[in-house]
Amino acid sequence: MQLPPCPECGSAFTYELDALMVCPECGHEWSVAAAGEDDVIRDAVGNPLADGDTVTVIKDLKLGGTSSTVKVGTKVRNIRLVAGDHDIDCKIPGVGQIGLKSQFVKKVTK
Ligand SMILES: [Zn+2]
Repeated sequence: MQLPPCPECGSAFTYELDALMVCPECGHEWSVAAAGEDDVIRDAVGNPLADGDTVTVIKDLKLGGTSSTVKVGTKVRNIRLVAGDHDIDCKIPGVGQIGLKSQFVKKVTK
């Protein structure tokens, strides 16, 4: 797992000290969300996802119980994050309301 860079100076040489993150270059200390609790949902390349984000599907996904496939490259707008195995709730035109796994999408940054 990679540690986040310092939010003050951008240094990558940060380290963990108990529940705090510490930057050795500027001395900034900050707290990170407790691991395991309120986990950030991330896409396939590690971008944190949020409600309302737009993502694209990075591989063909067969939908269980149907003959539909969500094609790679499909753009999905206005996602909603939910708890569970399929952690993205979304509506895909022509497919309907489905759940996606965050590891199969990539966030679209504007
Ligand atoms: Zn710093």
